[in-house]
Amino acid sequence: MAEYNSRSFASGASGRRGMGGMRTPVPYREGPLAYEPAVFCRCDRKAPRWISWSDDNSGRRYFRCIAARTINDCGFYVWIDGEHTPFLKNLLLDLRDAVWNLRNENAQLKQLNQQGTGDAVCNLRRKNAQLKQMNEELQRSNEVMEAGMKAKIKELEDKDAALAAIATMFRSGSSCSSFSWVWVGAGFLCGVCFGLMFGAM
Ligand SMILES: [Zn+2]
Repeated sequence: MAEYNSRSFASGASGRRGMGGMRTPVPYREGPLAYEPAVFCRCDRKAPRWISWSDDNSGRRYFRCIAARTINDCGFYVWIDGEHTPFLKNLLLDLRDAVWNLRNENAQLKQLNQQGTGDAVCNLRRKNAQLKQMNEELQRSNEVMEAGMKAKIKELEDKDAALAAIATMFRSGSSCSSFSWVWVGAGFLCGVCFGLMFGAM
């Protein structure tokens, strides 16, 4: 039996276990105006049908002025369902709170997950910047080493050329001396032969 109730708007919770103001724990199966026959409020407009999730009236449906909580609110407020038994009241409140707790935990986990992802991205960016710096330093030291190597190679080539020149000088000098020694040896042998021949005669 419908019953007019002049108390404040009952949608949402009044603060049981510190979770007031949270939205409905289960979605409505049909829109607040998708019912028939229509019930009209004092301003002659179809009144939406809601489900209360307050501590005192969880699970009870009611009609309320469509302009509720605005300056045009005519104050129309009619309960559709009677009061539940204490057992059903507590059961509905426990289920409501379980849904709200899970939503809270889910939101916290999502936040933590986003923070974790953000931290990981920051770490990767920092690592990337460090690697870039290291790469630049390596490139610089590589250039310095390459320049040193080129100078060393040039020095070795110069030394090699100088040694080759000295070796050529030595080679030509020794062949000349061996050549003159051959002539000296031959002259000596000829002298000995002539001496022997004239001595024998
Ligand atoms: Zn109204």
